[in-house]
Amino acid sequence: MRVGVMGGTFDPIHHGHLVAASEAALRFDLDEVVFVPTGQPWQKSKTDVTAAEDRYLMTVVATASNPRFTVSRVDVDRDGPTYTVDTLRDLAAIFPDDELYFITGADALEQILSWHRAHEMFELAHFVGVTRPGFELVSDHLPRGAVTVIEVPAMAISSTDCRARVGKGEPVWYLVPDGVVQYIAKRGLYRDGGSPSRLEH
Ligand code: ATP
Ligand code: MG
Repeated sequence: MRVGVMGGTFDPIHHGHLVAASEAALRFDLDEVVFVPTGQPWQKSKTDVTAAEDRYLMTVVATASNPRFTVSRVDVDRDGPTYTVDTLRDLAAIFPDDELYFITGADALEQILSWHRAHEMFELAHFVGVTRPGFELVSDHLPRGAVTVIEVPAMAISSTDCRARVGKGEPVWYLVPDGVVQYIAKRGLYRDGGSPSRLEH
């Protein structure tokens, strides 16, 4: 099998993520794309991300209708900061006989060589760099053959913008899947005064 891996904060997941994953699946004939929401940063600050469980559930809701899209808890369940090399190691153990394709946007690809244990990452997966409006793709300095750059239909959407819109009371319909719009409202995420830090049972 050929398995795509789409890592992200997904705070919230939006149609830019979904189009990128879908296009990479088409171009690389992927059997499955696993979405991997990052874990919770241990250092709390004003720019805190939403609780991992909320981001995980939004990712499940957003991907539920696509039979080839799945969601993994490997990063959510691992303590400490998320390093892509750990994500890929965990997934290589889950998919021992399969080829992994790590899908990443132009902005993240830029920093790829500075990532933790970069060359180990290139041994674990092929890297797919997808275009993203507002970010120039520069891949010259990356190891030859390790990264393939593909054009995806331009979706000028970011999670930052989605959060800001909700904070201002503006709609995010059509920027994120319908179920995610409803989940954000139900949980009161991204409203002024910050989001609830944990799920209440
Ligand atoms: P934030 O604004 O909070 O940083 P984001 O929109 O960048 O959120 P992330 O969860 O940080 O979303 O991104 C996960 C991955 O998806 C990254 O590799 C990123 O480059 C890619 N990505 C995000 N938005 C798009 C988009 N509109 N088109 C293509 N790729 C995207
Ligand atoms: Mg980002």
